[in-house]
Amino acid sequence: MKLRDPIYVTRSSLPPLEEYIGYLRQIWDSHCLTNNGPLVQRLEQELRQYLDAPQLWFVNNGTTALLLALKALNLHGEIITTPFSYVATTGVILWENLTPVFVDVRPGDLTIDPDQIEATITPRTSAILATHVYGFPCDVTAIDAIARRHGLKVIYDAAHTFGCRLDGRHLASYGDISCLSFHATKIFHTAEGGAVVINGDRELTERVRLMRAFGHHGDDHRCIGINGKNSEFHAAMGLCNLPRTAENIAAKRQQHELYHHLLGRAGLDLLFTSAADFEYNYAYCPVLLPSESRLLDTMQQLSTRGIIARRYFYPSLNRLPYLSGNTCPLAESAAARVLCLPMSQQVDDQLIDEIASIVIEASK
Ligand SMILES: *Cc1c(COP(=O)(O)O)cnc(C)c1O
Repeated sequence: MKLRDPIYVTRSSLPPLEEYIGYLRQIWDSHCLTNNGPLVQRLEQELRQYLDAPQLWFVNNGTTALLLALKALNLHGEIITTPFSYVATTGVILWENLTPVFVDVRPGDLTIDPDQIEATITPRTSAILATHVYGFPCDVTAIDAIARRHGLKVIYDAAHTFGCRLDGRHLASYGDISCLSFHATKIFHTAEGGAVVINGDRELTERVRLMRAFGHHGDDHRCIGINGKNSEFHAAMGLCNLPRTAENIAAKRQQHELYHHLLGRAGLDLLFTSAADFEYNYAYCPVLLPSESRLLDTMQQLSTRGIIARRYFYPSLNRLPYLSGNTCPLAESAAARVLCLPMSQQVDDQLIDEIASIVIEASK
């Protein structure tokens, strides 16, 4: 068999080098590298328009976005959260010395099950931190109603949602705060980066802005802060990539549809949302295999052909070795069996065909 480069689940898209160099020239001319420079401000403006989110700040990564959200909302005690997400979602709660309380997910789309939230609320609960996992929308209406009834804040980990719309609104416009990641592996990226979208009052927006830059204006120190700023170099990457988002989504959609056609026909359990009035970004193609041993076999079969699929997400976060989480049977079962299939410019129809055949065969 002919050797080829390894095929990964994602591969960062890069703009034409010349285009990026054009921005580098601007940076060299201005000598402004960071601290809310002109390119950062321009990207923020373009993101506000794209996301229809007037109150947005560009930050150095999605994890900092989540930390800023927790801090700016002044949360305490217990945070109700999902066990099925990237480790950062639970990590920020622990980092802030808050207590994660896990609520199991719904079958089908693996977002937090709103019907199980109320039973876990205690006098110590201050917020719900849920993930639109794979970009599939949480039941935002139910979660909002619960939060209002109990006086809780709602934060969404919207790291996967760039380009996803529910009821005509970008998913980042839900919750008190939504946090986006623009990491190199995400559908829109700035190499490293993220954004905080504030859907609350201006005062909260101002607090996030202050906290992002050490909590002070000149010599006026107003609140605790952190360095959450991002650089002109990262903003330049974003300015190059943003206009290509629609094109990227269209390419992913084609790959996604082919996987669904081939694997669906073979009766495999493909995860997808059943949300009405939803526009997807097609960023991920997760498939649920019948058992963990079938999953491990499938990964082995794929890797002998240089195809690196990813257990995304594993483990279920309530099982992280450094915490003692309550059990979540559905999330644990899904985490043991879920595989995300490669989708990138490296992947053509023929390769999808090959991957689908291996998955179908190995999962029998
Ligand atoms: C990527 C990701 C993050 C972290 O974002 P970074 O920009 O890498 O810090 C958080 N949550 C989820 C669900 C993610 O996929």
